[in-house]
Amino acid sequence: MTTSIKTLEKNRLRASVYYYKNKEAINQKKKEYYYSHKDEIYAKRKEYYKNRYLNKKYEIQKKSRIFHKERRDRIIKYLGGKCVRCGFNDNRALQVDHINGGGLKERRDTPHFCNAKFENMIYSDTHKYQLLCANCNNIKKYENGEFFKK
Ligand SMILES: [Zn+2]
Repeated sequence: MTTSIKTLEKNRLRASVYYYKNKEAINQKKKEYYYSHKDEIYAKRKEYYKNRYLNKKYEIQKKSRIFHKERRDRIIKYLGGKCVRCGFNDNRALQVDHINGGGLKERRDTPHFCNAKFENMIYSDTHKYQLLCANCNNIKKYENGEFFKK
């Protein structure tokens, strides 16, 4: 193994020495190649960036989906993991509820509101929030007349 690494290094050194000695000729050749294959190079480059962007896009979407799910699980676990009214405990239908209402106002009044901020708000003021399942949350909204307030 060590010998092959040494050979590799030697080759690399030889290549860089060669490049240094023939710099102008090499660059001239590169330039010529570039001008004669311009369209081809542009097309390839475009394709490369397009693919890279698409790959990255899906990667980012996938990561952020996992990230959101983890944050959601974390918050739900922190708030007790079940609906405070009926005990329903399926994460998919659990919602964070503002005990005294005003969720929308809070969202509007908080500059640059985002889920990360919301998570910190929950941790810093637990008494303001509770977990409700979708059913209980809707019933509560109905009871409080929040459906008609805007
Ligand atoms: Zn419930």
